[in-house]
Amino acid sequence: MKSSAQVVVIGGGVVGASVLYHLTEFGWTDVVLVERKELTAGSTWHAAGGMHTLNGDPNVAKLQQYTVGLYREIEQRSGQDCGIHMNGGLTLAGDRERMDWLRMAQARGRYLGMDMEIISAAEARQMFPLLEEQYFIGALFDRAEGHVDPTGVTRAYAGCARQAGAEIYQHTWVSDLRQRPDGTWDVITDAGEIHAEHIVNAGGLWAREVGRMIGLELPVLAMEHMYLITEDMPEVADYKAATGHELPMAMDFDGELYIRQEGGGMLLGTYEQACVPWSPRETPWTFDQQLLAPDLDRIAPSLEIAFKHYPALASVGIKNVINGPFTFSPDGNPLVGPVPGVRNCWVACAVMAGFSQGGGVGLTLARWMADGDPGEDIWAMDVARFGNWASLAYTNAKVRENYSRRFRITFPNEELPAGRPLHTTPVYDRLTAHNAVWGAGFGLEHPLWFQRPGSEPREDVTFRRSNAFPVVADECTTVRERVGLTECSNFAKYRVTGAGAAEWLQRLFTNRLPRVGRINLTAALEPGGHIVGEFSVARVGTDDFFLFGSQIAEAHHSRWFLGHLADGVRFDVLGLSLVGLSLAGPGARDVLQSVTGASLATEDYPFMTFRRIDVGMIPAYVGRMTYTGDLGYEIWVTPEYQRALFDLLWQAGQPYGIGLFGFRALMSLRMEKMFGTWAREYRPIYTPVQARMHRSLKCDHDFIGRAAVEAELARGPARTLGYFDITPDPAEPADVLGDEPIWHAGTVVGWVTSGAYAHYSRRSLAFGYVPAELAVPGAMFEVEIIGQRRPAILLPEPVLDPAGQRMRA
Ligand SMILES: Cc1cc2nc3c(=O)[nH]c(=O)nc-3n(C[C@H](O)[C@H](O)[C@H](O)COP(=O)(O)OP(=O)(O)OC[C@H]3O[C@@H](n4cnc5c(N)ncnc54)[C@H](O)[C@@H]3O)c2cc1C
Repeated sequence: MKSSAQVVVIGGGVVGASVLYHLTEFGWTDVVLVERKELTAGSTWHAAGGMHTLNGDPNVAKLQQYTVGLYREIEQRSGQDCGIHMNGGLTLAGDRERMDWLRMAQARGRYLGMDMEIISAAEARQMFPLLEEQYFIGALFDRAEGHVDPTGVTRAYAGCARQAGAEIYQHTWVSDLRQRPDGTWDVITDAGEIHAEHIVNAGGLWAREVGRMIGLELPVLAMEHMYLITEDMPEVADYKAATGHELPMAMDFDGELYIRQEGGGMLLGTYEQACVPWSPRETPWTFDQQLLAPDLDRIAPSLEIAFKHYPALASVGIKNVINGPFTFSPDGNPLVGPVPGVRNCWVACAVMAGFSQGGGVGLTLARWMADGDPGEDIWAMDVARFGNWASLAYTNAKVRENYSRRFRITFPNEELPAGRPLHTTPVYDRLTAHNAVWGAGFGLEHPLWFQRPGSEPREDVTFRRSNAFPVVADECTTVRERVGLTECSNFAKYRVTGAGAAEWLQRLFTNRLPRVGRINLTAALEPGGHIVGEFSVARVGTDDFFLFGSQIAEAHHSRWFLGHLADGVRFDVLGLSLVGLSLAGPGARDVLQSVTGASLATEDYPFMTFRRIDVGMIPAYVGRMTYTGDLGYEIWVTPEYQRALFDLLWQAGQPYGIGLFGFRALMSLRMEKMFGTWAREYRPIYTPVQARMHRSLKCDHDFIGRAAVEAELARGPARTLGYFDITPDPAEPADVLGDEPIWHAGTVVGWVTSGAYAHYSRRSLAFGYVPAELAVPGAMFEVEIIGQRRPAILLPEPVLDPAGQRMRA
């Protein structure tokens, strides 16, 4: 065994093997994989090996597409048979909502080049004669689906990696991990120690335990999962004889099951409601290529539906029942990337669909390690999307919810209840008393909208307009015509202090730093010029700054800041030690002025001012800005003052017709002001030039990514962010949800990033990226919303107050 290596990958399941292979592809050949038993000994060996490209997140779908396409190549290069069966797959819909979902999935797939087809139930039956047509109304057919041999694939990755110089040590258990002061690692195994520059935790069923070796509690939980294999069936043989090929796979939402051919019989797996976590607190190291006891009673409700939907199954014997554990994160997506706060420590775990996702996970992690950037938009898989709040119990609640909803639709306006409320701010009860409908982001509850008194604070879930629509319209009117109050604690807040803080930030940010007492907007880039984040920067002293950014990216952004930290500078994540309320609307100044001695007249307190003032008796930092685009103030206080602040402002606002507004109204208001948002318009795959962040780009100082920005400015961006006014279907109006394809002259040329109905302007608006040469004001496009192509005109400027006079009034 080597005593040193550049990388030690811990775990020889399909994911670890893929990471190892991809590291060698990026030229890192001094790499080893350590496996406690044999390759595949965790959850990999007993997997059903199914693979597909369909995913709710198009960026994850793209990585799945890559994975599925990789198998022929590694098979050929390694000489190891991967058992590839590309039989295609049907996703069956039994009702209108599911059909809508499939139409949207097909639409999303268009700009990824996916070849998916919507077909009728009769056509689905022709392809899959076992199904009973009456239970379905249609299906999505995807040619890029099938199944592989799990062991063959893992060995093929390993074989390719070995050919490139990687070494694999089986029957070698990593029992401890110790970091040296220089950030390198001593990997302690039962066969000796390896000194490694980097470690990768690909421990699968034991990823949590490997994390604990360095004091890390990863949000991962294993669930029991069952599939059964039938005896050979004459229907299967007849199909083969008639068509010359195998049956496609089928996913059946109603039965919460998947079904595919296995030899001469069928394999049927379920995501049952009565799901059961496995080893919820600790995975035993003694568990070794074992199966769990089958429990057919638990999956009986799904089997009952299966016998109805596929009657031939009812009369065939069961040859084998497999019950095995595999891991999930709280939202069902993998955990990938550098662990925040731990140098040279990477994870690739919680991969619940290793045969659809393992290749993409390996590719992006290896590129991240080699190039410092994952190269793809892997926001949905970044380990930093969870904070410390994702505790063991939270993970348990969320994973069970997620498992049981595997084949359920999660509507875009749906807020799933498990593990909530967890984080609340002091005004939570006040806002609940005002009939708030709550959502959660990064663990924190935030008000979405305020139901009318006497009605139940509940939103109907839908792809179209919900019962919130008229209420949110009223909230928007309140803000635009009188004054609205909302909570704004759900920003990430950071404080940067210490000698050299200004110099350090200036090197990170694309905009010049504001003067003391002022705020401005800025972006941070990686060296290739892609957006790492966008922030409001408030300066309270020469070397004293508050930064405000997207809350869901708090761990992601703080990992980046801390990774670049300069000596003498202090970077603090403020979290809920700073909470806020925001006043917005033409009456905002009058309300606030009535409770503070500081002059808020524009000449004394102009737009983008940020100062420490007293509001009533409450010490606060007050920024004159709001995301609504109206006259407004964000008022930041320590938590013990937030309730008093709320009561004070609410009382003071009564003569001015104050009303509460929530996140849904904010999203509507920001759309008509053409304000983009993090994780939609601004993501790590876009550049500030493409995103039209020109006001935050000042190339007169040195910042990370500047050379790339200048080069792009010189040659012009290939694509650009467009702002569209859409004509919805008058019979059944629906607004964009995000990720819809944008058509131009009969072809798909781009995709929607986000949008909303702008209630005050009465327009359905959207943002989306399109080729720069097409982004001409007035140009006509179509946006495909729930299967319908709707006209969309590209607008040159915000539909409301393009000169920005309201904010500056
Ligand atoms: C019944 C069932 C059916 C499934 N069907 C499908 C399917 O059809 N399609 C699909 O895509 N997915 C399926 N899966 C899921 C799939 O199995 C997983 O996504 C995949 O196996 C995850 O691989 P992994 O490498 O992350 O983890 P694992 O396979 O668990 O590998 C982790 C490895 O790390 C090793 N290890 C851990 N700790 C240490 C240590 N300290 N030292 C050394 N070695 C260590 C372990 O021994 C293990 O071999 C199924 C799972 C089950 C249970």
